[in-house]
Amino acid sequence: MTWEYPENLRQLHYPSEMKRILYIPFDHLHRDYGVLATADPKNDAVVLVESKRMCSGRNWHRERLFFLISSARHFAAALKDEGFTVEYIKAATTIDGLAAAKKKFGELPIHCAEPSSFRQSEALKKYGVTFHPNDFFLTPRPLFVEWAQGQKSYLMENFYRKQRVRLNVLMNGSKPEGGEWNFDKDNRLPPPKNYKWPKYLSHERDAIDEEVAKELKYDAKKYWATTRAGALKQLDNFLKHHFANFGPYEDAVTTENWALHHSLLSPYINNGLLHPSEVIAAAMKRYAKGDIPIASAEAFVRQIIGWREYVNGMYWFLGESYREHNKLEANSDLPKLFNDPSKTKMNCLKSTVADIQERSWVHHIPRLMILSNFALISGINPQQFLDWMREVFIDATDWVMVPNVIGMGVHADGGIMMTKPYAAGGAYISRMTNHCKGCFFDPKKRTGENACPFTTLYWDFLDRNRSKFERNHRIAQQVRGLDRLDDLDGVRERADEILTKLERGEL
Ligand SMILES: Cc1cc2nc3c(=O)[nH]c(=O)nc-3n(C[C@H](O)[C@H](O)[C@H](O)COP(=O)(O)OP(=O)(O)OC[C@H]3O[C@@H](n4cnc5c(N)ncnc54)[C@H](O)[C@@H]3O)c2cc1C
Ligand code: SF4
Repeated sequence: MTWEYPENLRQLHYPSEMKRILYIPFDHLHRDYGVLATADPKNDAVVLVESKRMCSGRNWHRERLFFLISSARHFAAALKDEGFTVEYIKAATTIDGLAAAKKKFGELPIHCAEPSSFRQSEALKKYGVTFHPNDFFLTPRPLFVEWAQGQKSYLMENFYRKQRVRLNVLMNGSKPEGGEWNFDKDNRLPPPKNYKWPKYLSHERDAIDEEVAKELKYDAKKYWATTRAGALKQLDNFLKHHFANFGPYEDAVTTENWALHHSLLSPYINNGLLHPSEVIAAAMKRYAKGDIPIASAEAFVRQIIGWREYVNGMYWFLGESYREHNKLEANSDLPKLFNDPSKTKMNCLKSTVADIQERSWVHHIPRLMILSNFALISGINPQQFLDWMREVFIDATDWVMVPNVIGMGVHADGGIMMTKPYAAGGAYISRMTNHCKGCFFDPKKRTGENACPFTTLYWDFLDRNRSKFERNHRIAQQVRGLDRLDDLDGVRERADEILTKLERGEL
């Protein structure tokens, strides 16, 4: 048990007049939101539970575990400094931890902001925990349901425009700032040549970090902060050095720089160290200085008030069973290269998985157009792929991974969330990244020994799913492209070869 008070001091720190136990999950780490918004050190005992299930239940990336645990312990320490009675409990499960808290504090009611996953909600509800509305997002869950119920298709763009108006962000009266809702046409540039990327922050480690790292037997890296002060520093660094150029290169990938102009804020917004309203307020203050191009400001705002809120809304709206979809009947096992990229000759996957192993993060294009695209076109089972994505990313939680993978990444929901699958061949990867230079495979080739697996499998995927997609106007043109291929039999043969090699770990 960490920081447990000696028995004889306990009375001093657990005054008998405590009225409530406030349970703080590891993704509610904000003093001003959730149950802490109304907390009173005189009446409320604060409890955090580090459950064994959370740490050892799966093959979690240790950078992720380090980040989550160290952030929670720093947060507990800060609350103690403020005068709260805080119990940081290690237990087999969250419920065991709460039972231990009751033993210490007596039969007090336990309060918690609504948890961020179906599973935890169910477990806590069953245990009799009183929920408060989850205000770690900008959109109350009932408001999202109201929006979704009024839609024929759940287009993010429609939701995003409503958000801009409702939250009054980048608006000139009723008109969007800059005259357009969306500046994507100005963005999506490939990586620039000889570009000087600004440096990223390195976060120094303190005694709490070192203690956590030691327990995890992990040599913690310095990519991620584990305190609110560090998270605020990261926000400031983004606004100073990256915000202005965020838009143009948001879809680019280069081996010369691992983060480009991305904000690296998702871990902190997701575990509560930063609230999205603070991020937006700071971004708008910076924009008001007048030197941030609207295309970059809009692109960033879209991510925070659009995508992030939409994904959370859809998670709750679509329900618990949504994660089980496998509409394309993809049943191949997760290939070995996702856990050991050293042997693959595919530069793009080798480099992406190695980056994840190093820092538990890659940006949205490697997640979507390299990892998910590959899982989609090679027919990897969506649930196996989802489990892997949940385990390896620092910012992964259920609410965000399930819709992003099942709906956006591998189209396993048959189009409930996205109107078309994000399938692409090597040509896309060759245009948006520098991975193909020097790769054993050739992105232009779809047959032959050095045919790019993405290119071959892209055509094979369209061929295998022709009947499902030929009437989908957003992808029908790509499907019709099959008719122009004079080597479809060769593509099918090469696809079989690739899938066999993939299974054997020889690709
Ligand atoms: C298949 C797939 C899986 C993903 N899994 C996760 C995940 O587990 N956790 C996660 O936070 N994001 C996830 N994303 C979204 C996105 O890739 C990450 O939020 C982003 O890469 C985090 O880096 P950043 O903070 O530098 O983001 P930036 O590019 O700087 O974007 C700013 C912020 O926008 C938000 N955002 C943007 N897109 C999304 C989105 N699709 N869903 C939710 N938030 C979004 C994030 O909070 C992010 O910090 C996923 C995307 C895809 C395609
Ligand atoms: S050629 Fe194909 S496998 Fe190689 S890096 Fe490019 S897209 Fe990836």
